[in-house]
Amino acid sequence: MTATTVNGVRVVDDRPTNAQMRDRAGNPILWQQTRTLVLADGRTVYGCAHCDYTSNNVRSIRPHLNRHRADAAPRVDLGELGGLTLAEAVARLAEHDRVAGERAEWKQRALAAERALSTLRAALRGVT
Ligand SMILES: [Zn+2]
Repeated sequence: MTATTVNGVRVVDDRPTNAQMRDRAGNPILWQQTRTLVLADGRTVYGCAHCDYTSNNVRSIRPHLNRHRADAAPRVDLGELGGLTLAEAVARLAEHDRVAGERAEWKQRALAAERALSTLRAALRGVT
């Protein structure tokens, strides 16, 4: 998150930075990830939209933003699944679906058998 204090001085205003360029329609271009921060003591510094990095030099923010590119595509450790091809992973998912479907079917049969057994027990209780 963007810095809320800089060396103990509170940030009182946080806005996108004017890139000093205009788009084709003539509108000013704003850098959303480079924040212009006004401090409680009146100074202006520049900050990163993603972390508390700040600098007096606006030009140091854009190179800093590259640091966050790796964050955008997090690496995922797939464990043993990491060695599978996509086709193998899809086949395993299909197998999982088949087994889960069978399990639901067997659960139905088990519940029905429990009910039948319960009925038999109740009937036998009357006999003994
Ligand atoms: Zn940053």
